[in-house]
Amino acid sequence: MAVGVVSDPIFREHDTGPYHCEVGDRLEAIDEAISHWEGRGVLETLPLRPAREEELATVHHTSHLRRVAGTAGRSTSLDPDTVCSPRSCEVALLAAGSLIDLCDAALSGEVDHGFALVRPPGHHATSTRAMGFCLFNNVAAAAAHLLLKRGLERILVVDWDVHHGNGTEDIFYPESRVLYFSTHQSPLYPGTGQVSAVGQGSAKGRTINLPMPPGRGDLEHLQAFERLLLPVARQFRPQFILVSAGFDSHREDPLGGMMISAAGFAAMTQRLTEISQEFCPGRIVASLEGGYNQAALGRSVVAVLAALAGQRREDELIAKAAETDPNTWVDRAMEAAKHYWKLP
Ligand SMILES: [Zn+2]
Repeated sequence: MAVGVVSDPIFREHDTGPYHCEVGDRLEAIDEAISHWEGRGVLETLPLRPAREEELATVHHTSHLRRVAGTAGRSTSLDPDTVCSPRSCEVALLAAGSLIDLCDAALSGEVDHGFALVRPPGHHATSTRAMGFCLFNNVAAAAAHLLLKRGLERILVVDWDVHHGNGTEDIFYPESRVLYFSTHQSPLYPGTGQVSAVGQGSAKGRTINLPMPPGRGDLEHLQAFERLLLPVARQFRPQFILVSAGFDSHREDPLGGMMISAAGFAAMTQRLTEISQEFCPGRIVASLEGGYNQAALGRSVVAVLAALAGQRREDELIAKAAETDPNTWVDRAMEAAKHYWKLP
């Protein structure tokens, strides 16, 4: 069956100017890499549609929606990193709305998994503010849609961007129906994502942060999946898996200091497909976050798409990670999570 994608030249129209790293050319690099991928026949491009105000109001305060809407037709900035061009609001609405429709397509079985190749990214946007290149929190809006409109009760959000997804954590901190798992470099922008942040009230244990110092790569991240994410996910039994797919954790990225390779992203995706097969077949949907080395971004996105399509397996890398000595960063996150989950 087809893997759904959201991809359209309009997502380049969020114009951040000549000196920004989060630029429309990133999507051109992805298109270019996909055009050279032999397996691309498996992709099915879905139609676009803007998010409705009531969909975004599930995760954002009305004041935030007004502020972003007020940027239409002008060039301005909402915080030092987050700029808007005349069409940014329109493009951001299309990113969030099309991701929601892609999730619906995966939920109904129209497509088998999916990847929204959209911008602006979303995981830093909190309920009240745009920050870190993000206007609306696309993944959070999609998760809220699945909970509120589709009646799902357990959504797993995996965030492997090099930065902590403070916005997603913030929005779902008291929400026990969303399990947020983030690997990220620390210290690094935005400074959140400590191991001790575990969620609030009935959602304690539903936020799992795995900060790691720079230099960590495929083996450390796969070990985090093997020892922590997979055992927790098997207890949580997700009905849907959303991925905040940031590729600034790639070894060639100019902003991040992590060392993940394209094969590592494929391997992490492969591990998520194991969970999906057990609990929610066909229901992994990724949404593009960071990733600023354009060649590496293109290769990595294709690696994830190939893994979602079942065309690429990284069994050797996964086996090697399982045999590697436990690393202390995973140990620390396990120590915090074991109050809420049975861990090996
Ligand atoms: Zn990032």
